[in-house]
Amino acid sequence: MQRKVDIIGGGLAGCDAAWQLAQRGIDVRLHEMKPHKKTPAHNSDQLAELVCSNSLRSDRISNAVGLLKEEMRRMGSLVIEAADATQVPAGGALAVDRELFSGYVTDKISGNGKIELIEGEVTDLGAFTPDGTVIVASGPLTSDALAQSIQAVTGEEYLHFFDAAAPIISAESVDMGQAFWASRYDRGSDYLNCPMDEQQYKVFYDALVGAQCAVLKEFDMDGAQVFEGCMPVETMAQRGYETLLFGPLKPKGLTDPQDGKRPFAVVQLRKEDAAGSMFNLVGFQTHLKFPEQKRVFSLIPALRNAEFLRYGVMHRNTYLQSPKLLDTRYRLKKRPNIRFCGQITGVEGYVESAASGLMCGVYTAAELMEEDIDVLDRYTALGALGEHVAASVSKDFQPMNINFGIIEPLGQRVRGKEQKNTMIAERALEKINTYAEKHGIN
Ligand SMILES: Cc1cc2nc3c(=O)[nH]c(=O)nc-3n(C[C@H](O)[C@H](O)[C@H](O)COP(=O)(O)OP(=O)(O)OC[C@H]3O[C@@H](n4cnc5c(N)ncnc54)[C@H](O)[C@@H]3O)c2cc1C
Repeated sequence: MQRKVDIIGGGLAGCDAAWQLAQRGIDVRLHEMKPHKKTPAHNSDQLAELVCSNSLRSDRISNAVGLLKEEMRRMGSLVIEAADATQVPAGGALAVDRELFSGYVTDKISGNGKIELIEGEVTDLGAFTPDGTVIVASGPLTSDALAQSIQAVTGEEYLHFFDAAAPIISAESVDMGQAFWASRYDRGSDYLNCPMDEQQYKVFYDALVGAQCAVLKEFDMDGAQVFEGCMPVETMAQRGYETLLFGPLKPKGLTDPQDGKRPFAVVQLRKEDAAGSMFNLVGFQTHLKFPEQKRVFSLIPALRNAEFLRYGVMHRNTYLQSPKLLDTRYRLKKRPNIRFCGQITGVEGYVESAASGLMCGVYTAAELMEEDIDVLDRYTALGALGEHVAASVSKDFQPMNINFGIIEPLGQRVRGKEQKNTMIAERALEKINTYAEKHGIN
């Protein structure tokens, strides 16, 4: 087997994957189209550019992204090493000086004798030898030519260019006293229904039409045609007081068991995972600012204490229908020599993208060196992300941040969220330590 890997994209995922491979003695050719060509969001000439915020979010392990970072730290992530080395004060968050951060990663990659940096756009996956190993890490703004080439390999219908997602909330945060299970016209009980009376609907409606939207970036407008088929709930509301009552909030076919009557309006929640630990708000694609989503959607009585695991978004985002295409080692099932990592696999966020790059690098290295390596399971944040990508059962697969809803629950009742999450995190870190020791990692 060839011990050389081509990686397309020197972003967060591509750099962590390259680093893991190089650390294990494998030669890497890292292809990056910058500085010759840049996506509409990239500005600098450096690798691992942070395209927007300079924060890698919470650093506490009782927060899922804090746990993910700690796992990555223990697994030898270059991105986390760089973030630790270039951090700026940010309370409980890990924020970085973006120039120093990218500079740190660029220096480490360019100074590594096992990694050859090749500048230029890759337009054709077929350019690589059919039995050579390729990792695609070209991100949410993958260049058009490469996207076409990926579609030719995966099938056109499996690569999406736009992310129009409704918010996802944790099941345990729903006030079950204000909700009931039912499908319309008594056809089962697949939906958790959150009823509103007329007064509650009016308060909700007024808040929704007055809420602030996020600003669309110029390159997001590419997705304008998608807005037609996937209208944001706030845009629909602007069309009139009753429009939602004939759309996503229609009460038709539903009876509230509390009073035996049809509610004035109903928001339906659908299970997002097999365990039923998360729900999405059906038909609530939204472009509201995140704090506005929390403020307005919490006016729905059953959701007054809702914990948002993911806010709704509408923006340009190239990503695969990974559960149909990839296995838990980030390999294309039908052509395992082609792998994907980063945001293009359906993880969301800087840290998550780097995390998938790290694990893709670890698995690929083990395979090329013909070593047995276990797949991390969903008892860890790294493993839970891998499972989300390869095995999410959601009917409408969407990119997702790491959250405790996708990590294996404790299996015992614990009072207090902080305490429960800390226990899950401690269990995960023990697993990571054992894994790292077993496989000789760092
Ligand atoms: C506008 C925008 C803002 C975002 N803001 C945040 C945020 O604030 N916080 C957060 O956590 N996440 C944010 N994200 C989401 C995501 O975390 C980042 O996009 C993250 O950088 C993804 O990492 P990646 O490695 O998958 O892709 P990237 O970091 O984008 O890296 C991909 C690399 O591949 C290169 N490339 C693309 N096509 C080719 C090609 N054909 N040949 C060679 N090279 C190619 C690109 O130049 C780029 O350097 C944002 C995404 C977008 C689009």
